[in-house]
Amino acid sequence: MTPILPGQTIGMVGGGQLGRMSTFKAKQMGYIVVTLDPAPHSPCGQVADAQLIAGYTDHLSLIELSQRCDVVTYEFENVPSESVELIVSHGKPVFPAASVLNVTQNRVREKTFVRQLGLNVADFLGVQDRDDLEQAIDQIGFPAILKTAGGGYDGKGQFVIGSADEAVCAFEASGGVELIWERQVPFDLELSVICARNQQDEVVAYPPTENIHVNNILDISIAPARVSPEVQAEAQHVACEVAAGLGLVGVCGIEMFLLPDETLLINEIAPRPHNSGHHTIESCICSQFEQHIRAVCGLPLGSTELISPAVMVNILGSGTGSRLAGVPELLRTPNVHFHLYGKREAKADRKMGHITALSVDVETALEVALAARQQLRWE
Ligand code: AMP
Repeated sequence: MTPILPGQTIGMVGGGQLGRMSTFKAKQMGYIVVTLDPAPHSPCGQVADAQLIAGYTDHLSLIELSQRCDVVTYEFENVPSESVELIVSHGKPVFPAASVLNVTQNRVREKTFVRQLGLNVADFLGVQDRDDLEQAIDQIGFPAILKTAGGGYDGKGQFVIGSADEAVCAFEASGGVELIWERQVPFDLELSVICARNQQDEVVAYPPTENIHVNNILDISIAPARVSPEVQAEAQHVACEVAAGLGLVGVCGIEMFLLPDETLLINEIAPRPHNSGHHTIESCICSQFEQHIRAVCGLPLGSTELISPAVMVNILGSGTGSRLAGVPELLRTPNVHFHLYGKREAKADRKMGHITALSVDVETALEVALAARQQLRWE
């Protein structure tokens, strides 16, 4: 592929914060960005050169996007693969390719793919009917997690199952959609690795982050994860295997469980920049967003070196108001970087922004980040 160079145009399907932060980098590097999102003034639309206000399956707008852009990418993993194929059929490359979405949009296909690479996943079975459910109970047993195979995020569409009765109730409540039954694994830590690959087959991985979730939503990411150097290296190695196996072009976030015996199980692959990689904006030589732009434009990848320990904490909406108080107080804290995504309504649990603290060690960075967030409240 001839590289897409500054001055040319990148299309971004999806107008959320991941698109916004990718666009900041693209603009810094001299690109033109056109985003497509149904919501006017989307977080990405506010910073892009133009926004097409349309749904992700709107044929005319997807065709217009392909006509206005030299390369197209996306910032959320549930873009219909038909939309990607439509853009490609109008002569413009889309990265990551539709084949990547086909794997990552379905948890059964995703875990089957990981297993075929010889990597570890929690025991699982696809569940489409009552017979499959019986088989999953017999073969894998309890405790288990029953998840929708497609479309879920942040733990939505998931049930923890401790008995056959609960299994039947959850199965019936799911309304006939394809499900996956997974063994609930007793992990010590949740880790993620951000990995990038370009068409020249360069693959790079950032040091793993340690992730703490609240209500299944990422709350805190600690970089580097507090694990042995061997686990760090293994996590980066498996992430690179996944990216290469997928034929990924772009950035992906790979979530893993670390078991007490130090085995790593892959839980989920997100073929886009990832919330746990936001700290790289300030803590790394080349951020995940710059890496994404470089990869989809066919340019050499950057360094993933962590130049400072860092902790990122999310700022979620609380549903109590959409004006954020306490920002001047927060900004008195040294070594804190404050990000808001420009969303107008701070609905409960909506990702509104994040704070990254850099320090000499992750313990201090964690204290600083949490103290800074304490200053904030929605009014
Ligand atoms: P997911 O939507 O797959 O990322 O799951 C959301 C959260 O549920 C994860 O971050 C874990 O905390 C938990 N979880 C998911 N799958 C499992 C599993 N097989 N065993 C234990 N915990 C899990």
